[in-house]
Amino acid sequence: MKFLRDRFKTMKPYHSDYITEGIKLDANENPYPVPEEMIVHMQKWISTMQVSRYPDTDSKGLMQAIAKAYDLKPQNVICGVGSDELLDCILRATIENGDYVLAPYPSFSMYPQFTMLNAGALLQVALKEDFSYDVPGLIEKISKKQPKVIFLCHPNNPTGSVLSLEDISKIAEAAQGLVVVDEAYGEFCEISALPLINTFNNIIVLKTFSKAYALAGARVGYGLACEALIELLNTVKVPYNLNIFSQEIATWAIENKVLFEPIIENIKQQRAYLDTELKALGLTVYPSATNFIWLKMPKEAYLALEEAKVYIRKMQYEGKPYYRITVGTEDENKVLLKVLTDYFNV
Ligand code: PMP
Repeated sequence: MKFLRDRFKTMKPYHSDYITEGIKLDANENPYPVPEEMIVHMQKWISTMQVSRYPDTDSKGLMQAIAKAYDLKPQNVICGVGSDELLDCILRATIENGDYVLAPYPSFSMYPQFTMLNAGALLQVALKEDFSYDVPGLIEKISKKQPKVIFLCHPNNPTGSVLSLEDISKIAEAAQGLVVVDEAYGEFCEISALPLINTFNNIIVLKTFSKAYALAGARVGYGLACEALIELLNTVKVPYNLNIFSQEIATWAIENKVLFEPIIENIKQQRAYLDTELKALGLTVYPSATNFIWLKMPKEAYLALEEAKVYIRKMQYEGKPYYRITVGTEDENKVLLKVLTDYFNV
């Protein structure tokens, strides 16, 4: 394979188990079905859809609906095939030839992957021992290396850690590069960097329909930033990126976001319930502002869950095993806790 670029030769494709049975708590998805009204709307829409035509390349209807939901202009919005596409788009627009990209560690696995694909050099600043952000460490690295792009996963996947608006502002002030605040889990968290896009032209906030809006299968994400930055990213974006189905369903979701509020509230309550119950089993559980929980647990407990077809995410950090459990429905969480209680009481 001599024709391949050197840096691709050692890379591995992204892998995720496609689980179709049991209790799936491994991918931070929303465990609840979408509202019935959404199904009814999409059934009606299918009879009028024009699949023989290209979709609107700018996803204008969706852009407008998103802008309205956040009291912004459509020119402040860019839509992507999941926020994954936008992460790549941002790096394609910014880095080349070993330019630095800074990310926390541990954090979302696609930051290193997309940095490598786009010929950047990754710098990482480890989270502190309690998995909170090391803000002085980030600022020091920024001042020394001036990375072109800084990823702040907020709240962080896989640890659930958050930053304050003051900290994000300090980071953006120290940075000459672009600060990407990835708020994929933002709806489960009380703090959003969104107000900062009016002050900082080097901040973009990324959001997704995959988590709170239960639309992981439709693959829709969006970025919110000042007009000049969005215009630049639009020159990099693939034409017709969002298909007609995804544009329609995401537009409906954001226009009817009030229907998702009780679902989000329920997930937050279940997160608190899991946190309490897992701690009662003697496990080390870290604070989470997301729809998942990061914890330490014996490997055998993980195997007991797997045996019971309760699937969670196993991860390695500094040579030690950690686990990430997506908050499920009340019933799913009860099954998870029953398996763990049985395991610890034997
Ligand atoms: N950012 C973070 C932090 C994530 O965890 C994910 C999904 N796992 C994404 C971005 C990508 O989400 P999507 O492409 O589904 O919008």
